[in-house]
Amino acid sequence: MGTSIRIARVAGINVFLHWTTILFFAWIAISDAAKSDSPIPFRGLLFVVTVFTSIVLHELGHALMARRFGIPTKDITLLPIGGLARLQKIPEDPRQELLIALAGPAVNGILVVVFAGLILIARGAAGLNVSLAESHWLNFVMWVNFGMGIFNLLPAFPMDGGRVLRALLATQIDYVRATEVAARIGQALAVLLAIVGFYLNSMLMLIAFFIYIGAQQEKVLAQVHSILRNVPVREAMRKHFSSLKADDPLPVVLEEAIASSQHDFPVVGSGQQLRGMVFHNDLLSALNQQPPFTTVAEIMQDRVEVVQAETMLDQVFERMNELNRSTMPVVLHGRIVGLVSLENIGEWMMLHSQKGGDVVATTPNLTNRIARRQVPHSPAAIEDGIREHRAEPMATTRVD
Ligand SMILES: [Zn+2]
Repeated sequence: MGTSIRIARVAGINVFLHWTTILFFAWIAISDAAKSDSPIPFRGLLFVVTVFTSIVLHELGHALMARRFGIPTKDITLLPIGGLARLQKIPEDPRQELLIALAGPAVNGILVVVFAGLILIARGAAGLNVSLAESHWLNFVMWVNFGMGIFNLLPAFPMDGGRVLRALLATQIDYVRATEVAARIGQALAVLLAIVGFYLNSMLMLIAFFIYIGAQQEKVLAQVHSILRNVPVREAMRKHFSSLKADDPLPVVLEEAIASSQHDFPVVGSGQQLRGMVFHNDLLSALNQQPPFTTVAEIMQDRVEVVQAETMLDQVFERMNELNRSTMPVVLHGRIVGLVSLENIGEWMMLHSQKGGDVVATTPNLTNRIARRQVPHSPAAIEDGIREHRAEPMATTRVD
């Protein structure tokens, strides 16, 4: 994540601090510095760091429970409003989802008990040498964790309680329907929270906004999965595509890229055997940096994951998101038979399902991902795009 810095690596999981959180810390530290009468220097910062440590532990609770079910966590990011553990996927088995969702608040519960014990011990020793400030801090940690645990159990996506609710519903009704019901309840709660926040605390309004958006995304994701679940890749893949040979020089590749509306090219050997892929970004950077006699073999990626033609689209969609790939080669009996891209999947959804069309039309995230890949169809425009890129080798535009 370009806008976050890594602060720790716990149990093999990277913990990032989002830049807005760094600003938030700085702001607290500055307001601390202004208060010179405080008994402990940077007391506010100490308390905020305590809160964020509790958040990390909460997120680790989710991550480690997910790991038990074989689901890795990409990373944990700390935002000013809380933490975000990015699990590689959400299990569709309701029991697993339930346990993963409960693991976070359970960590807070354990911390509450531990700190309540420490407070009792401190009280026993009070009058001897425990300073007021220290017991203050113990109280603070206990109540923060109590609040965090309870708040996260609110039955609203993306709070843990929303997942608990969905998991419980999913044991009775269809998963997608369960998600829709849980999302609707979550959005209703978000509106309620926003109203309360309007009168009490603007921070609550911000949280309400995130809950509302989170519920919407969760609903869309479940819908996409349900639409794509029973569709094999071969139905949505691009069957007519251009391919390259390993010894093709760059100008040939450029010509091919301009002549077709294709962004990523498979490299094939004899008998349509896949040897690698040249992705749009690789091509653009090669055009910027490599001499024209460079061959495809030098710029292609030779270790690419392939999809079997009979694999279901929802699995491919998930895998593409995991790998951050927008195109994957489709093979049948070891020979390449097509290409599947996020555009193909989006198009398939629009053409074959009324609901899919609605989802694509109303989901900025999904359509953005698809739209970003839609380079203008006129060859001149593509050429312009490439020239523009050549003129500006440092351009940070990500095309895929
Ligand atoms: Zn949680």
